[in-house]
Amino acid sequence: MHHPSTFEDNGSGTLFGLDALTGTAAEEPSFRDSPAARRMLPVREIHAEPAAAESARGRQIIARFPGARLITVDSHWRIPGLHGNEGNVDRWVRVKGETLVLGERKTLTTRPNGRSADWIAPGASNGCAMACAYCYVPRRKGYANPITVFTNIDRIIAHLGRHLARLGPKTEPNQCDPDAWVYDIGENGDCSVDALVSDNTADLVRAFRQWPTAKASFATKFVNPDLLALDPRGRTRVRFSLMPPDDARLLDVRTSPVAERIAAAADFLDAGYEVHFNLSPVVIRPNWREAWAELLRHLDDVLPERVKRQAAAEVIMLTHNRDLHEVNLGWHPRAEEVLWTPELQQAKRSENGALNVRYRNAVKAEAVRTLRALIDTHAPWLRVRYAF
Ligand code: SF4
Repeated sequence: MHHPSTFEDNGSGTLFGLDALTGTAAEEPSFRDSPAARRMLPVREIHAEPAAAESARGRQIIARFPGARLITVDSHWRIPGLHGNEGNVDRWVRVKGETLVLGERKTLTTRPNGRSADWIAPGASNGCAMACAYCYVPRRKGYANPITVFTNIDRIIAHLGRHLARLGPKTEPNQCDPDAWVYDIGENGDCSVDALVSDNTADLVRAFRQWPTAKASFATKFVNPDLLALDPRGRTRVRFSLMPPDDARLLDVRTSPVAERIAAAADFLDAGYEVHFNLSPVVIRPNWREAWAELLRHLDDVLPERVKRQAAAEVIMLTHNRDLHEVNLGWHPRAEEVLWTPELQQAKRSENGALNVRYRNAVKAEAVRTLRALIDTHAPWLRVRYAF
């Protein structure tokens, strides 16, 4: 039975609203309205395509940031003075939190993957408010790459529904999942931070929970407690990205501390998520083996049995890029001391002419073997889905 005091601090006058009728506790205030969330996203400018600004989702977002200046743009790509401005390195990190872009996703394409997920869904965002020094997301857009929210989320969800209806059920288990088609919904951003901006992540989680043949999956470096209320019913896999805390303090700029991500695992499991881990990127630097061993021992110490039973991991070695290296030298040269190690790395020119670097084959093979052995020793319950 409800005692009236349940509703006292609600402040929204919903004593006879849905909460009372369904018998659930009155809603907690959202994390996204908290001072911590506002510090993450102190939005001052919203660049919006006209149709995106007028859409229902666009209007909700604009209303959430009443102090922000609204600027109309023809296209969410290549906004002068915002994208591609390597000259603005000093502002780069600030721009990520203070600027939002609203656009409509024109092309709805689901691409096969087979490694992290069966499919890469057309994302509901592109760009990120965090600023990991190794992040490959900005490469295509230039380096000041704040969050672009795609406001036509309904079309993205309808597209996914059609895609999985055409597929039918998954008949052969694979390492992505034994029986669900796994769709990565956050390839070009971080869905947990996106949920501070709009309900796009919530809409996707709710869509997947009614699709018994599919599962959403996204990697994250941010703990957003609002996601705990979404009731995913096992149809969304959260992959908390982990690296030794010393590396994260240097490289994972603006993210939640690693210990916080680990501590959140049980809460997310209990809230109905599947919880996996991305051990990534693995950065080879002095004492990296000891640091990873310590991280794995920490996981073994603090994670409850129920998290361990269902956990799995992706292990991904660092890849880097010459252009990003040059940009980072301008704002975060200490990061480049561990990211740019030509004696260990080999370069490969990509199709678009960028010079990508990765660890030399022998170095990488040895490192992958080492990490697998460390997992076997310190966290033998952690199934490695793939390592490369
Ligand atoms: S959290 Fe992910 S998308 Fe965001 S900056 Fe870091 S690596 Fe890039």
